[in-house]
Amino acid sequence: MARTKKGDDEITIDYSIGWQGQIRMQINDKTPWDSHDFKVKMLDWSATRGSRLAYSCRRCGRVFCRFSMANQEAWAVDGGGRALETLVSRRWLSEQCPPLTNIQDDEDRKRLREPMQ
Ligand SMILES: [Zn+2]
Repeated sequence: MARTKKGDDEITIDYSIGWQGQIRMQINDKTPWDSHDFKVKMLDWSATRGSRLAYSCRRCGRVFCRFSMANQEAWAVDGGGRALETLVSRRWLSEQCPPLTNIQDDEDRKRLREPMQ
């Protein structure tokens, strides 16, 4: 499981959190979550839920958010960090990293949880 993050400076803050996530999901097979090649970025911080982290995959371009402290599943977000429909989140979380950028993802990203208009 010890994957070296190649030359990524923004990883330092969140490295320990990444490990927690891996321990929690340690099953024999690679989980869909682990199949992604995530780059982690801290978006903001709240006293109750901890850091809000954005996980963006270098390979498929999918972006997920999760709080470091709250015992809550990650959710899918679009390029602007807006939460996508629960249905889309669940599907993205259950799928392995797609080898090529999925065309349907563009459609998925339009399905925001809260309409912006
Ligand atoms: Zn991926």
